[in-house]
Amino acid sequence: MSKQYMITRVIIDHYHSKLDHLFDYLVPLPIQPKIVTGMRVLVPFGRNNRMLEAFVMEIKMDDNTSFHMKEIKEILEEKPVLSASTMSMIHWMKSAYLCRTIEAIRCFVPNQRVKQKVVDVVRLNEAVIRKMNINNDFNKAPAQKKIVHYLNENGETAVNRLLKSTQTNRSSIKSLLEKQYILIEKQHYRREPNILQEDFRYPEPMLNESQQEAIHIIKQTWVENPNKHILLHGITGSGKTEIYMNIIKDTLAKGKDSILLVPEIALTPQMVQRFKGRFGNKIAVLHSHLSDGEKLDEWNRIKKNEANIVIGPRSAVFAPCNNLGTIIIDEEHESTYKSEQAPRYHAMDIAKLRCEIENAHLIMGSATPSIESYYDAFNGKLKMVELHERATGGELPTITTVDLREEVKRGNKTILSQKLMNDLQECLTNGHQAILFLNRRAYATYVNCLHCGHVIQCEQCDITMKWHKKEKKLKCHYCSAEKPAPQQCPECGEEISYQGAGTQKAEDAIQSLFPDYNVVRMDQDTTRKRDAHQTILSQFESGKIDILIGTQMIAKGLDFPNVTLVGILLADTSINLPDFRASERTFQLITQVAGRSGRGDTAGKVILQTYQPSHYAIRAASKHDYMRFYEEEILIRNTFQYPPYSRLIQLVFYGKNELEVKDTADRITAGIKFLLQKSGYVDNSNIIMEPGPAVIARVDNKYRYTVLVKSVDVQFSLLKKIIKYLVLDKREQQVPESVSIIIDPDPRFIQ
Ligand code: ADP
Ligand code: ZN
Repeated sequence: MSKQYMITRVIIDHYHSKLDHLFDYLVPLPIQPKIVTGMRVLVPFGRNNRMLEAFVMEIKMDDNTSFHMKEIKEILEEKPVLSASTMSMIHWMKSAYLCRTIEAIRCFVPNQRVKQKVVDVVRLNEAVIRKMNINNDFNKAPAQKKIVHYLNENGETAVNRLLKSTQTNRSSIKSLLEKQYILIEKQHYRREPNILQEDFRYPEPMLNESQQEAIHIIKQTWVENPNKHILLHGITGSGKTEIYMNIIKDTLAKGKDSILLVPEIALTPQMVQRFKGRFGNKIAVLHSHLSDGEKLDEWNRIKKNEANIVIGPRSAVFAPCNNLGTIIIDEEHESTYKSEQAPRYHAMDIAKLRCEIENAHLIMGSATPSIESYYDAFNGKLKMVELHERATGGELPTITTVDLREEVKRGNKTILSQKLMNDLQECLTNGHQAILFLNRRAYATYVNCLHCGHVIQCEQCDITMKWHKKEKKLKCHYCSAEKPAPQQCPECGEEISYQGAGTQKAEDAIQSLFPDYNVVRMDQDTTRKRDAHQTILSQFESGKIDILIGTQMIAKGLDFPNVTLVGILLADTSINLPDFRASERTFQLITQVAGRSGRGDTAGKVILQTYQPSHYAIRAASKHDYMRFYEEEILIRNTFQYPPYSRLIQLVFYGKNELEVKDTADRITAGIKFLLQKSGYVDNSNIIMEPGPAVIARVDNKYRYTVLVKSVDVQFSLLKKIIKYLVLDKREQQVPESVSIIIDPDPRFIQ
């Protein structure tokens, strides 16, 4: 028999594109019994044999080996970090998103370079203490007495925490230790995320009939077909969260794990608090605002089965649950579920795949499902479960549309219509709170000269600069450019004017109209600091704020019963964008923000200000009529063959040299057409559109061209194969060094 060699094929833990393939290493004899796929190893790499970390993707036996093959240096952990199901997801992601293997792997493993933190933990030596009377025996040593009392009440405690809580010093601890009253041992310390530190109980209500019915249907569906995904379509305030909790409780009782995805954790602190208040220490959170240490500790708690319910934004779909039972995606229509950097995954795709591989259940919930999901439910691909009433029994708020053109005709040029002004006054007089929504930040949204028409633009980007009054600066919202605002037009020297109100101006205007009330603004500019969101929201909850003004940050998931008025200052901000989802987004935003009103005992009102009162998205939203919106929208999608009637791939080309960018876009487009023709698609004008400048044609001095490819009558996988071949495999021949290309399958935003 010939000699057999054990060879591993590894992916180097490095982002360089030249390293995106498998490298072979021999496994030395002592390591052979221990090594399995999914492990992290150390390997010598390159001419200098620098030691690099790598992931074992395959192991094979061979009776032949190259003379030069290097050996693995060592195994980094006892156990593999990538499970078998993780491995198959990584392969799937690589072909679905045309990403590098390491980019997919990185989604599943936290930064291993942070170390676990170890601290000294103190506890009472029960054997000794039991024989004593702790109330009397320490009378001569009050500091020691304090410590013993504290430990007796609170159990084991980290040294630093103990010193702080008891206001004592190390010498007391030292003497207690010498007398063997206490024991000290080293323990792993958990870096606990702030959001989980608050103690709070969230009692379980009696579910109402609709909720019970919904849960019954969900469970029955899964009895018949465990892999049937649920679309929970429930109006705002219908009590979807209670349904999630009920299903998760059930999953927990079966000894299984759950993942709850939320659009953005900072915007949904209430959700996390409710779950913490119901399930206590079983909860782990994972999100990008955590420090690397906090992330690793939460990750390990999940991995070690200490936490069985994971809450987080899209990336939490990769949580290392060992025995996954349920994934829930709240507000499933939100675009934040799609990653805007490689790998450009959509959490819903990953959730569906994961549920299939790990035999888990999936619920997608929303008051305004995405057109694609609703279409799937319509066609039976998803099981639809509906909730038509508010959980607390109240009605949905009445929505009154105000035509801003009429206001202007009447000479009212302020941001508040007469109607909204009156209702706001009434709301505040009654001791209620109001939310005002305006989806653009800054003070003025453009600065122009009324004399010559000159508009001040960013020098690096093809976009107008916004006036930030507080900072006295013009800012570009696409790059970091800032400049002082001119008094005169730089072109003609006449006086300059500030047009278009943003949230800053709205805040000023409202505060001066209502000087006795507390007005606070919540947008990207006021929430830069960690936990700023939570601070503002808890002030609002406690009634310290009367009027909350904000961008779409305030539109989602907030449940404040004292809010009886929502004012939408300008509903049209998102409606005219050149994106086929513009109407859908407008409908969703209006419905979501309107849903914040009247959640308590008093009926709510919404005033919707718009220049386009007859637009179908605005009309349907003002009637709370999802079906009507869906029916109009799906016709348009069908006519223009947009999703769900097709799938798209968006290519974005960018670089400093406009000619090279444009040339590359043209060349790749021609290449795609040629290969389509060779595959039998002779007329491909409806598959690929001519390249053109992006909606914002220059950002940060880089010119941007886009090409949209549509899978109408042609396999999506064929399109991807063609694009992969031209853009990735043949990159060196097809694309100059100076041009970058983004491949964006199923894009959420048309650029
Ligand atoms: P949604 O997520 O559908 O918008 P929530 O789950 O936030 O709605 O519920 C809205 C409000 O109704 C919350 O304040 C919640 O505590 C309350 N609620 C939910 N279910 C019940 C119930 N069965 N009985 C009483 N109150 C409920
Ligand atoms: Zn700029």
